[in-house]
Parts: sequence; structure tokens; C-alpha cells
Amino acid sequence: MKKTVGFIGWRGMVGSVLLKRMLEENDFDKFNFIFFSTSQVGVKNPSLNKEISKGFLKDAYNLDELRELDIIITCQGSFYTNKIYSLLRFSGWMGYWIDAASDLRMKKSSLIVLDPINYKNIKKSLENGVKTFIGGNCTVSLMMLALGGLFRNDLIEWISFSTYQAASGGGSGYIMDLLKQISFLNKYLSKNLNLSTSILKIEKKITKITKNKNFPQRSSLAPLILNLIPWIDSKMQNGQSREEWKMEKETNKILSRKKSQEIKIDGTCVRVGSLRCHSQSFLIKLKKNIDLKSIEEVISHDNEWVSVVPNEKYESLHRLTPLSVSGTLKIPIGRLRKSSIGDKYLSAFSIGDQLLWGAAEPLRRVLRFLL
Ligand code: NAP
Repeated sequence: MKKTVGFIGWRGMVGSVLLKRMLEENDFDKFNFIFFSTSQVGVKNPSLNKEISKGFLKDAYNLDELRELDIIITCQGSFYTNKIYSLLRFSGWMGYWIDAASDLRMKKSSLIVLDPINYKNIKKSLENGVKTFIGGNCTVSLMMLALGGLFRNDLIEWISFSTYQAASGGGSGYIMDLLKQISFLNKYLSKNLNLSTSILKIEKKITKITKNKNFPQRSSLAPLILNLIPWIDSKMQNGQSREEWKMEKETNKILSRKKSQEIKIDGTCVRVGSLRCHSQSFLIKLKKNIDLKSIEEVISHDNEWVSVVPNEKYESLHRLTPLSVSGTLKIPIGRLRKSSIGDKYLSAFSIGDQLLWGAAEPLRRVLRFLL
């Protein structure tokens, strides 16, 4: 008998990318579906196809409705997970919970899913009765796919990173902020951008506009356009941001590393004004001195999505940018070279669509395994 899957948070950034991918892969043929909402109960289902658009949205806070489901897949975010998950479990619900939010990732009873890296663990967890499967942090998943070969061959001693994370990583509110900021600036530029104006005068005026207290920045809390924000998420006690903290903790959990064998990973997470895709630059200390060609082979043979981009200017400008990767499952890694610091130090730059492999795709694939 077909299982019934409930979709919550399908309207947001991650949820809508998830639905698009599921349609492309004909996933909806494999289960019955019910769509929920926290804000639009009774409104028509998403108009994805004839079959889906027939229904009406149910209340995502109605525990009785949720208890009827075999599988819940939520991209609604932390607030929802924290409000509903424990209530449902305490009420005796034994279904599968698949979630994009971070809150349950580090719990013993849940598994972080990224099947090209930890498929064996997913399989084992299913056999052992695990019922809670959580997508990893976007930068963690993208880093692990890019460096999968180095992780798999246990070649990494530590990683120092710097991220360049897209506006859409902060959700639909961030995108709206960025678009409003563009529109706000355009009001000035459309009237004043002419070749005879001194460029410094324009720069001064634009800077003044972006610093104006009325400049739109509701979600981002600081201007994102023509700027960057060197802080993502809340502060941890050790001075890291939570986003930075996740890199080491989640990576080692995905790899099932014992405490004594954990790989040290630390760096700075930065929000930039690209629309989609997270980029990361790495300095990696390898456990031994390996030649660059062997490193490239180990990396490129690990999974079908990663590809090595030659360390050349033209290739980097055309294959290693948010625009060239956006909307695809590609994980290019480039700028690969031995660092001048020493033979065991590798420098690299990687990029991936944080809404696909960084969020929706691992959830979609674990749902297929469950079914
Ligand atoms: P989001 O775009 O803000 O969407 C979350 C919810 O906000 C939607 O389901 C919708 O709920 C509501 N919403 C309010 N205004 C909306 C609008 N104008 N357009 C669309 N939805 C709107 O959040 P998200 O980025 O998808 O993130 C969801 C979860 O995934 C979070 O826990 C996040 O941390 C995690 N995650 C996000 C990313 C990413 O790149 N964004 C990557 C990895 C993990 P109703 O329909 O019920 O109103």
C-alpha cells in the first residue's frame, strides 16, 4: 500500500526547490500526499500538476491530522520543528520525520543524511529503526561532497575555511531584503548615472544611501548589497557563530567519527550578496604529502556530482561562480594547488547550490529510501 507523506514548509525557498526536484524525478507517483500550511489553511494546494492542485491545505499545527501520516517532510524551519516534533512523538506517533531545520541534527536519535557520503549509515539506521532523518547544514553538505574523496580516504588532518554564502541561504526574507535594496538604490541610479558625473561623487552618495536608517534590511539586519555580513546565526560560548560551529560538529557526526578521531574544522562564515549558491575557500592540512594529480583524481572519482576545475583564470571565472552553478546539482572544486605554507597544505575553492545539494536533495533522496 502507498504511504502517505505530509508536506510542511513547501512554499519557502527549500520547500519549493524540493517540490520542483520531486516533480522532475516523478517522485509523487510513489506515495499519497497531503499539503499543510502554517498560514494559509483551506487555500488550494500548490498548482504543480492536475492531481496535486485538486486538494486544499490542511493545518500544520493540527496534531490529529499529522498523526495520520506515515512520513512528514518539513522545510518550515526551527520554530515549527521545536513546537511540533516533541508533541507528536510524545503523543505516540511512530512515523518518519524528515527535516531541513538544524534543531534535531545533533540528537542521538536522529541521523544527518547525505547519502553520497553516508549511505551505509542511512541503511544501517533504517534497519535499526531510526525514524528521524535531518538534512545537514548547507555549507557542511556542500563541503563534504566537494572534499568527499579526501574524507573517504582519511587524508585530512584539519581544515580552515572561509565561506561566501548567498542571500537565499537566509530564507525568503533575505532575498526580499536584497531585492528591495536593489530597488531602493535604483531609484537614485536611474536618475543620476551619467558619464559626466564624478565616480567618487556617485560612490559617496551610494554609500550614504546604504547607510540610511530607512534602507530596507528587515531580515538581514544590515545592508547586504555592496556589502557583506561576517556573521551567520547566533553566538556560541567559544566565540564562533553557530554556523561555524556546525562545520566541525556535523561533519564528524556524518562521518560517524569517534571523539578521539574527529577532524578539526574551523573558519569564518560570511553572508554575501549573491542570490543563490554557497562558495567556500579551504586551507586543508593533509595527513601526508600527496602530489596534486593524485589529489585531483581522489576528489573527482568520489561521487558523480563533483568535478575538478583546472586552476586557470578563464575556467575559474566561467565554471566556479554562483551564476554558473545556480540551479544545478554540480559541485565544482577548483583553485586547487599546494599552498606555499608547505607540501602537506592544500588550497581549494568550491561551490554548490545550497538549495539543492545543500538542502532539498538529501531530503528528497532519503524519502525515496524510506519508500
Ligand atoms: P523560508 O523561505 O523563509 O520559508 C519558510 C516558511 O516561511 C514557508 O514555508 C512559508 O510558510 C513562510 N513564508 C512566509 N513568507 C513567505 C514568502 N514570501 N515566500 C515563501 N514562504 C514564505 O525558509 P527556507 O530558507 O526555505 O528554510 C527552511 C528551513 O530550511 C530552515 O530551517 C533553514 O534553516 C533550513 N535550510 C535552509 C537553507 C537555505 O538555503 N535557505 C539551506 C539549508 C537548510 P507557510 O506557507 O506555512 O506560511
